[in-house]
Amino acid sequence: MRIVVCLKQIIDPELPSSQFKIDPGSKRQQPNGHPLVISPYDENALELALQLRDQTAGHVTVLSVGQSSAVSALRKGVAMGADEAALISDPALEGSDAFGIAAALAQGIQKLGPPDLVLCGCESGDWADRIIGPILAEALGIPCVTYVARAEKHNGHVRAQRVVEEGYEIWEVTPPLLLTILSHESNVPRYPKVKDIMTASRRPISTWSLSDIGLDTGHVGNAVTRVEIQELTLPTRESRCEFLEGEPGGQVASLITKLREKKVI
Ligand SMILES: Cc1cc2nc3c(=O)[nH]c(=O)nc-3n(C[C@H](O)[C@H](O)[C@H](O)COP(=O)(O)OP(=O)(O)OC[C@H]3O[C@@H](n4cnc5c(N)ncnc54)[C@H](O)[C@@H]3O)c2cc1C
Repeated sequence: MRIVVCLKQIIDPELPSSQFKIDPGSKRQQPNGHPLVISPYDENALELALQLRDQTAGHVTVLSVGQSSAVSALRKGVAMGADEAALISDPALEGSDAFGIAAALAQGIQKLGPPDLVLCGCESGDWADRIIGPILAEALGIPCVTYVARAEKHNGHVRAQRVVEEGYEIWEVTPPLLLTILSHESNVPRYPKVKDIMTASRRPISTWSLSDIGLDTGHVGNAVTRVEIQELTLPTRESRCEFLEGEPGGQVASLITKLREKKVI
């Protein structure tokens, strides 16, 4: 089974919000030297891919669209157990919306050769558009099942457990197909061993420009975005502290009145 996992590198979402800064001009988060990590659900997707590969003797490739820094995310993917890694990086991608990113991923996947399974996270840990998976499936002309918690190979099909509000749906789809993956107890990402981290640090990572993947610059970048970001701001949090005077009984009564006024109770 040939599996491609789409890995996005993002600024660590666990950073305290006070450290996030937005550049008002470009309306982008400023990197500010913050630690970069693999988007969390993408690690769950990679874990699932590795389990499927180990059951079926397949091949797992991790693929990213991003700047040269994304090589470190791909190396982590290799240290976890991916067989191959490739980065699509080109200045023309700057300012691309989801359609541009998905177009680049689709061309990269075609360059790798026809996959049986493409895995994406169900949403990225920064923009969280939740749309790359479905757009990519459309571009590749393959079916897509979203919000998948578990998947296994079953009589030539992929059987996927899809999370819905009331429980699960079970889908059986004949490959090739694309799944977007949620976190689940069955896909907790493995920790790479030190030996594997060392080996991965020496592995060459293919880096492709747009011309390497045969994608015209007219499909990506600022000039062709279908989405315009009007404003990007950090949420403001206001807090106020008020001391209630008087005897305990009176304080409690006054607290209840205030909570009722604010419709908390
Ligand atoms: C007008 C506009 C301009 C933008 N300009 C920039 C910019 O200059 N620089 C910039 O970094 N972002 C830019 N963005 C954001 C960028 O377009 C989004 O990161 C992209 O659309 C993916 O959306 P998402 O991260 O919400 O993905 P989601 O749809 O939430 O992601 C789902 C999954 O898709 C896969 N995936 C997503 N992105 C990648 C990737 N890059 N490589 C591999 N797999 C991936 C992952 O598996 C991920 O879990 C811009 C967005 C807009 C609308």
